[in-house]
Amino acid sequence: MATKKSLRINTQLVHAGERGETPHGKPVSTPIYATATFTYDSMAEVDQVFAGEKQGYIYTRYGNPTTAALAEAVRVLEEGTIACAYSTGMAALHAAIFACELGPGTTILASQDLYGATIDLLYKVLGSYDIKTETADFSDIQGLRKKALEVSPRVLIAETISNPLLKICDIAACVEIAQEVRARFIVDNTFASPYLCQPLKHGADFVVHSATKYLGGHADVMGGLVVARDEVDLQALVGVMKLVGGVLGTWEAHEILRGLKTLAVRMDRQCENAASLAAYLSSHGRVSRVHYPSLTTTQNLDLMKRVLRSPYAGALVSIELQDNTREAAFRFMDALNLCVRSTSLGDVFTGVLHPATASHRETAPKRRLQLGITEGLVRISVGIEDIRDIIEDIEQALEKSSEVDQFRKGGSARA
Ligand code: PLP
Repeated sequence: MATKKSLRINTQLVHAGERGETPHGKPVSTPIYATATFTYDSMAEVDQVFAGEKQGYIYTRYGNPTTAALAEAVRVLEEGTIACAYSTGMAALHAAIFACELGPGTTILASQDLYGATIDLLYKVLGSYDIKTETADFSDIQGLRKKALEVSPRVLIAETISNPLLKICDIAACVEIAQEVRARFIVDNTFASPYLCQPLKHGADFVVHSATKYLGGHADVMGGLVVARDEVDLQALVGVMKLVGGVLGTWEAHEILRGLKTLAVRMDRQCENAASLAAYLSSHGRVSRVHYPSLTTTQNLDLMKRVLRSPYAGALVSIELQDNTREAAFRFMDALNLCVRSTSLGDVFTGVLHPATASHRETAPKRRLQLGITEGLVRISVGIEDIRDIIEDIEQALEKSSEVDQFRKGGSARA
């Protein structure tokens, strides 16, 4: 704003330099539009924008150019029709579920292998509105179909690569079941990212991301996205943004946009490192089991190839220690010097998490064991470091935890 000379200092402090002409020349990367609201030359124009007769931004909770640029980028990557950004992955999941028009008495059929907080969202939040959740093993397609026919769900929900046992979802087969029972299918694609899988191309209705993970990639930002295949869902997705209000901040949108640019390079390295680590650990005497999609049956390998970008199997590896106890897992994790004890995944550094005390903390111990989440299970999100350093760190930590074992058994630490 060009301030008049007659204005006093207190007024100039507020207005000087603000709301100038839109600069000439397009910025080559999206600026952070750090503004809560937008103004127009006349009230008639404001009215037209409010009415949707004229394109424009009004209020950042309704939309903002920086967050819109991120949503558009992820829409393109997922090959969807519309996309919306939210403050976290959980907010995005909630929005996608809301768009499915659930009401009291309706049912969600969820994969039993979902992230713990997603299960809690379904039971504790949606359950309090009398929306029922049933779970099923989505890797048993016949069983899933039987259950879907039995409970007539309005929504099916699963993860492309499940947390933390890394089971691959046969998205196309689940889509067939969803269509048979006229349900919509939400896929949480957080563990795969659009670089490894595009669930809408397999027929899913919604893709959800916790952008906090691979999309951002640097452990410095939280965010979530929903991409839908059908334009009709726009109103509901924007409605949640406007009325529930979990909108993504513009700074965060900018950080995630920047993260996206290196997603492919990061993922290539992370998946290669993860495959090497999984191969190394699969013959390690201190590890009783390695969960990694390419270390399974031929049938699962075919599924992996159909769902994920070849030759990759993802960038997470979950291991069970020989001494399958919480103490052994903690000893191993505490002995790590390079790998970070971190309550997240998908970052440039290698991070380790103990599912029983973190992602599935709220799941009852008995249920955790039924799901295969044992006390000695450790999830490793493999980073972009030199794989030799990652392996050396894990090797020394496994050795240290074994020293304690031998002390406990009365043996020599170095024997
Ligand atoms: N979906 C999956 C698979 C996750 O692992 C997480 C978080 O760990 C979320 C959703 C929730 O994301 P956020 O923490 O960004 O809310």
